[in-house]
Amino acid sequence: MVSYKELGLVNTREMFAKAVAGGYAAFNFNNMEQLQAIIMAAAETKSPVILQVSKGARNYANQTLLRYMAQGAVEYAKELGWENPQICLHLDHGDSFELCKSCVDMGFSSVMIDASSKPYEENIELSKRVADYAHQYDVTVEAELGVLAGVEDEVSAEESHYTRPEEVIDFSQRTGCDSLAISVGTSHGAYKFRPEQCTRDPKTGRLVPPPLAFNVLHEIEKKLPGFPIVLHGSSSVPQEYVDIINEYGGNLPDAVGIPEEQLREASKSAVCKINIDSDSRLAMTAAIRKVFHDKPGEFDPRKYLGPARDEMKKLYMHKIIDVLGSNGKA
Ligand SMILES: [Zn+2]
Repeated sequence: MVSYKELGLVNTREMFAKAVAGGYAAFNFNNMEQLQAIIMAAAETKSPVILQVSKGARNYANQTLLRYMAQGAVEYAKELGWENPQICLHLDHGDSFELCKSCVDMGFSSVMIDASSKPYEENIELSKRVADYAHQYDVTVEAELGVLAGVEDEVSAEESHYTRPEEVIDFSQRTGCDSLAISVGTSHGAYKFRPEQCTRDPKTGRLVPPPLAFNVLHEIEKKLPGFPIVLHGSSSVPQEYVDIINEYGGNLPDAVGIPEEQLREASKSAVCKINIDSDSRLAMTAAIRKVFHDKPGEFDPRKYLGPARDEMKKLYMHKIIDVLGSNGKA
């Protein structure tokens, strides 16, 4: 048993208590360059940050290595001059009690149990079991109600359905969860909407996605005043990255995300945590493709992963400062 407190990490409780206006970004990481970029951006902006690890990332990078990387991230943040780093290590989309327990036992400060695809009562039962276990160690728990469309690592759903506001009080009370992921129209991946769900901007020809269901969000907020709400699948799929990728040999036709304007609007409400993964993948891929195109003789990984890291840092700073406003809060 390793306590996250020994690793210098924090859970989400204090962070979310301070998230009255604005929220915090949860960035996924699988490798060193992503982690460096997240920590550089958070340290430079003095922004609390949530490092997310999915089941897929855990399988890819090895759970032990990831834990030491998170511990290293705290020390690295201090080295960068961030005196009191507020870094949370969070399991994204835990799908079983055993996985969540294993993360709690290995030093995670927060876990998500996603039983949203199960029947309501089963979702409550499993989420409560995880919350009861995690709370013994002061680890915070995110649960999910409603189904998001799209694919994220091993989580996929064909059909989405919005969270039912009439269920949220019962669900949060009976599970004891600390935050609630809801479905109001965000979606996983870089193809959040099918072209037929969108309209087209007549000037640019680009897809314009349907707006988020703010009415549902506000109803949930009224039922659970002050309760931390989480939005998954909240990448914006910046068109400049999609264009660079397509220009330099990639093929991402009609990739579309959630406009940042809408995320800004959402984070003014009870939304405390916004999950961003695809945007960082796009930034990294765009930077690498450009180097491969411009310098075909380059084969030193540092020469293409370095620019990729710079691009991701720029992206993370933009999200922290311009979308979530979490800069200067730590
Ligand atoms: Zn998600």
